[in-house]
Order: sequence, then structure tokens, then C-alpha cells
Amino acid sequence: ATSLMAGKKGLIMGVANDKSIAWAIAKAAREAGAELAFTYQGDALLKRVKPLAESVGSDFVVPCDVTDEASMDAVFAEVEKRWGKLDFVLHGIAWADKDQLKGRYVDTTLDNFSRSLQISCFSFTDVCRRAAPLMTDGGSLLTLTYYGAERVMPHYNVMGVAKAALEASVRYLATDLGEDNIRVNSLSAGPIKTLAASGIGDFRQILRWNELNAPLRRNVSLDDVGKSGMYLLSDLSSGVTGENHHVDCGYHTVGMLEPDSAPQ
Ligand code: NAD
Repeated sequence: ATSLMAGKKGLIMGVANDKSIAWAIAKAAREAGAELAFTYQGDALLKRVKPLAESVGSDFVVPCDVTDEASMDAVFAEVEKRWGKLDFVLHGIAWADKDQLKGRYVDTTLDNFSRSLQISCFSFTDVCRRAAPLMTDGGSLLTLTYYGAERVMPHYNVMGVAKAALEASVRYLATDLGEDNIRVNSLSAGPIKTLAASGIGDFRQILRWNELNAPLRRNVSLDDVGKSGMYLLSDLSSGVTGENHHVDCGYHTVGMLEPDSAPQ
């Protein structure tokens, strides 16, 4: 444990269970001394999120569906009431219709496109707008993205388009909020077996491909992403904003490895 984030108060959005990337980053922030609040989506997840929150010394757990304005209003009203300020927010929320995370992107329906972009991209902009007035000492806003925004990955489809929009929005948000010393970044994680990932077709093969082709010759762990997320939420990254930080064992840098250099 360190005191790097002692006295910092942060909102963690997107924990579904102990495999969630948001949880890994929350744990790392807590180990650095931060005080945490958690949102959960729907009653079914409360029984998972509440004990996790308790395990990091937090009884601040509030429901939030990002498509429900009243619940978003309530979250930020509660933060203002309990804390009066906010130092960081982690947004680890995305959604697309499972049936369209296989097959072809060209077949995406308008309904799925709109809802995917709303939940996976607009919700971060909405969170930033609501959080900024509470960040009276400056702050850090972080969202999670994936390489499927930059290059085509199998079955990622509309999520790739939503993540591209999310990454572009990070640059605009960083520019809008920079004069208030509020930083906005994204962390592009390599593939990790989470609840959300289980909806993506052929995910096991994607994991194997990354393991064989990443410079570090392995997949990222939750711990890798947790530590880098903590860096972006903390003052360690005080000069970093508008950035998309890859935590993917270097996969995004490679065109092609030496044909026989990969592990067999
Ligand atoms: P996860 O299933 O643990 O987390 C997804 C979260 O989104 C859940 O907590 C869910 O409740 C929440 N969510 C979905 N719709 C919501 C809504 N309408 N309102 C509020 N919350 C809602 O999976 P994860 O893999 O940890 O996903 C977290 C983020 O990381 C996502 O943005 C995902 O795209 C991104 N990501 C995941 C991977 C991966 O391989 N797992 C890689 C890169 C980026």
C-alpha cells in the first residue's frame, strides 16, 4: 500500500463482478489510498458489488443505469451530498446486442447501433459533464476501450465503431475540460475474459492470437490493467490528457512477428 492517492475520492462505474476491469482498477486505486464509491447496474448486481465494495472499505454503493437520466442525476447528487467533491471517475461501461457481436458489421440494425453508441460512448460524455463541476481541485476521468476501434477485429462490429467514437470523444472532452485541470484519457486494454467479453464470438481464439503475436508473448492480466489504470487516475499522470494508453502487451505495435518467434 502507498499513500499516492490518499485523500482522493473516486467514483467507479462498471463493476459487475471480481473479473471486471473496473474492479481491477478500483483495487489498485484503493491500494494507493483512494476512497471509493461504486455504481451497479440493477438489483441483480448489488449482491456482487456490495461485498466487493466492503472489501475495499466502502459502503458507498449506488444504482445506476446510464440510459436512465434519473439514476444518473441521483448518482451525482449523492456524490455531492456525501463528498462535496470528486477527484476521479472510472467509466468501465459498454453494451452491444450479443446477436450482432458475431457475423458481419454491415448487418447492424439502427436500433442496436443507437443503443450501443448511447451506452458505450455517449454515457462517458454524460458522466464527464456531470462530474466536472464536482472536480474543484482538478481531476481525472478515465474510460476503457479496445483496439477494435482502430483496426478490424473479428466480431467486434458495432463495438469497434462505438469505441472509435469514444476515443474521439476523449480528445474533445480533454480539450473542453483541460482549463479546469481536469484530464480525460482512455485505456485500451488487451482482451481479458470478463462477463462482457463472453458475448464476443470466438473470444478464445482472439485471446490465443494475442498471446502468440504480442511482443510480450502473453495476454494482459487484470493486475496489469489495474496498475496502469491507477496511474492514469492518479497524479502520476498529471501531464497526460486526451491520450489513448494501450495496455495490451504491445499487440497494437506489431504488423507481423518473425514467423517462428511465437511460442508454439
Ligand atoms: P464487465 O461485464 O465486467 O463490465 C461491463 C459493465 O458495463 C458491467 O458492469 C455492466 O453492468 C455495465 N453496463 C452495461 N450497460 C450498462 C448500463 N446501461 N448502465 C450501467 N452500466 C452498464 O466487462 P469488462 O470487460 O470489464 O468491461 C468494462 C469495459 O472494458 C467495457 O467498456 C469494455 O468494452 C472494455 N474493454 C474490455 C476488454 C475485454 O477484453 N474484456 C478489452 C478492452 C476494453
